[in-house]
Amino acid sequence: ITILGIETSCDETSAAVLEDGITLRSNIVSSQVDIHKKFGGVVPEVASRKHLENVHPVIMEALEQAKVTLKDINAIAVTYGPGLVGALLVGVAAAKAMAYALDVPLIGVNHLEGHIAANFLTRPDLEFPLLCLVVSGGHSDLVFMPHRGDYQLLGRTRDDAAGEAFDKVARAMGLGYPGGPLIDKLAREGDASALKLPRAFLEEGSLDFSFSGLKSAVLNYLNRAEMRQEEVNKADLAASFQQATVEVLVEKTLLAAERTAVKTIMLAGGVAANGGLRSLLQTRALAAGCTVVYPPLHLCTDNAAMIACAGYYKYLRGDFAPLTLNAVPALSLGEEKY
Ligand code: ATP
Ligand code: MG
Ligand code: FE
Repeated sequence: ITILGIETSCDETSAAVLEDGITLRSNIVSSQVDIHKKFGGVVPEVASRKHLENVHPVIMEALEQAKVTLKDINAIAVTYGPGLVGALLVGVAAAKAMAYALDVPLIGVNHLEGHIAANFLTRPDLEFPLLCLVVSGGHSDLVFMPHRGDYQLLGRTRDDAAGEAFDKVARAMGLGYPGGPLIDKLAREGDASALKLPRAFLEEGSLDFSFSGLKSAVLNYLNRAEMRQEEVNKADLAASFQQATVEVLVEKTLLAAERTAVKTIMLAGGVAANGGLRSLLQTRALAAGCTVVYPPLHLCTDNAAMIACAGYYKYLRGDFAPLTLNAVPALSLGEEKY
């Protein structure tokens, strides 16, 4: 089964060709990060316009690199939410047009289901039940999956998402955009215990997250240093901030694993690329008798390979979307709106 995946939910225009859920023939990712960089974040209007310019060439390149023609495609999988409405619409319209013209099934994929499925590209053998910590630019979710396609939200962020906190802190430190990878790199040279920063564990036993207090603490620290004209050790600050974020993420993930008696923990989303998160979760999970799985670095951030993979499992279930499929900007995980 050959699936063409299309992803345009945020600022990456991506198309991928995936065979049988595991053989990735191509995965073209055209990032707009250089365009949005100067604004310090994604500008929705600019993003939709760029997707419109890119979507056709990116799909063509994916087919070409995969050495397949349109006749070889068995289904089209596309992200229809959550994300920026104008951005989503570009991918959805392209996918619908192609599914109609080729007379193949259209598969609507939730972007977060895609992030989770990035794990199955390299680990199709994983057995349920599974637990996934989804940490991205817009989400910090703890998801319990008793069976494939069954998503139960155990906890989520009450304010900023983890990736958002990395981006905002990096911006305040003058590091650039996106901030996650820059903080990750800088943190390797810093002392994580140099600064005392708050960890928000919330109420006893809560599986929710909150990162806005931590973000404010870093901003206050930077402002104070500036007023007093004190030098800031950026590596120490990056390491301390990352440690504070990662400790809470890992602590709650292990609590969720214990509660659900799950032995395999997956990481997903852009922040799953974080070195500090990967290593602390590995160590703590090992001690708790759990295994940790995460996608290769380039499949953690937005890409169409993960959408094609989620689409493949929906194809097997016969879960197809009608050609009236629309973009759903606030789509939740486990909810189907078609
Ligand atoms: P969502 O998936 O919630 O809709 P998104 O698609 O914008 O949001 P992703 O592409 O999954 O988010 O991830 C991007 C985020 O991941 C950014 O906030 C970025 O800073 C962060 N990120 C990427 N690499 C790293 C890293 N090594 N360490 C920490 N954060 C990282
Ligand atoms: Mg992006
Ligand atoms: Fe994403």
